[in-house]
Amino acid sequence: MDLDFSLGTPASDPKPTPDSGTVRETIIIGSGPAGLAAALYAARANLKPLVITGNEIGGQIGTTSEVENYPGFTGDTGPELVDVFQAQADRFGAETTIDFIEKVDLSQRPFKLSGSSDYYARTLIVATGASHRKLNIPGEEKFAGRGVSYCATCDGFFFTDKEIVMVGGGDSALEEAIFLTRFAKKVTVIHRRDELRAGHTLEKRARSNEKIEFIWDTVVTEIKGDDLVHSIELKNVKTGETSTLKTDGVFIAIGHIPNSNIFKGQLDIDEQGYLESDKFLRTNVEGVWAAGEITDSYFRQAITSAGMGAAAAIDVERWLSEQEESAAETVAAVA
Ligand code: FAD
Ligand code: NAP
Repeated sequence: MDLDFSLGTPASDPKPTPDSGTVRETIIIGSGPAGLAAALYAARANLKPLVITGNEIGGQIGTTSEVENYPGFTGDTGPELVDVFQAQADRFGAETTIDFIEKVDLSQRPFKLSGSSDYYARTLIVATGASHRKLNIPGEEKFAGRGVSYCATCDGFFFTDKEIVMVGGGDSALEEAIFLTRFAKKVTVIHRRDELRAGHTLEKRARSNEKIEFIWDTVVTEIKGDDLVHSIELKNVKTGETSTLKTDGVFIAIGHIPNSNIFKGQLDIDEQGYLESDKFLRTNVEGVWAAGEITDSYFRQAITSAGMGAAAAIDVERWLSEQEESAAETVAAVA
């Protein structure tokens, strides 16, 4: 299937492919770096994998404007990297379908996955990654898409010559703030501490950018406006002092929450919501693997996620071969 990953959305609106009861050797849930790397390795092992994309085609990396640390990748943007992943997996026969899995039944094999169609698989690689965290403050939901955004690559252009804020102090917040200076007149980074979580390279770049200012030790308590955002309420967490800041837009990059809800009660999940897996990326249910950010709260990079996707697919192939060998031995013993 030809998909256009620019801005992380499909070019057209392809209909989901019903799998009509076919039992796949393996299904991969998620189309980020982990899912697409798993697809490449599973396809090369002739497992004819199906990738179910979810709503964020290409995953988180598909939303970023600049990727400088994926070894061997000499392009610029996240969507370009996703295109490369997808093309390589497709070349070896991976199939992709646009669907969102709402329910899984892992109580017996083949496993059953339900989205707009039902899918059946002997093995499953869960690569559902993580979704952006919300501030959960008044005005955030009301002004979503009307001045509140979680994706600079998608929405930056709408803020040309505007004054905007970026909430967060991690790599995402700084990378996106720097990107937004291509459009905006001024970007104010608001961080709840007086020390950034972001790495040194991005910090140096942001601090030396004339369009970027910082407000430290401060949280946003409310987003206000009429049709569009016009101001935010701030509170200094050290002094308790409150203030109002005029702004045309609020970008939020305060981390991510693992997409593990549909596995609750079936797969082991840690207290932060990440799926638990062993060194082979196997979960507590035999035949189910977890790869990438859904099982990794520590590294959370495109390359580490892709590495886990590849490793999970290698182990899936070995496990399926072992199953076939033991089935053949049982048949031989009975005969
Ligand atoms: P994700 O990328 O989160 O992908 C998860 C996939 O699962 C998505 O396709 C989603 O649609 C799908 N999904 C979720 N739930 C379901 C469901 N129920 N049914 C079907 N599908 C589902 N890392 C770097 O190494 N370099 C960078 O420069 C960099 N920049 C970044 C910039 C930003 C703004 C952000 C947010 C992250 C950045 N990262 C970067 C981190 C990197 O993007 C992630 O570590 C990586 O994308 C994780 O890959 P993943 O495949 O595990 O999960
Ligand atoms: P992150 O590292 O978890 O940082 C989240 C930031 O948001 C932190 O500064 C945190 O503050 C702040 N925050 C969290 N909840 C908040 C709240 N309720 N209110 C206000 N602030 C809040 O997340 P991330 O920046 O998205 O990065 C995720 C992963 O992707 C990281 O591993 C990162 O290295 C990677 N990444 C890499 C690149 C790159 O390599 N170029 C780019 C982007 C992302 P505290 O600091 O006080 O906790």
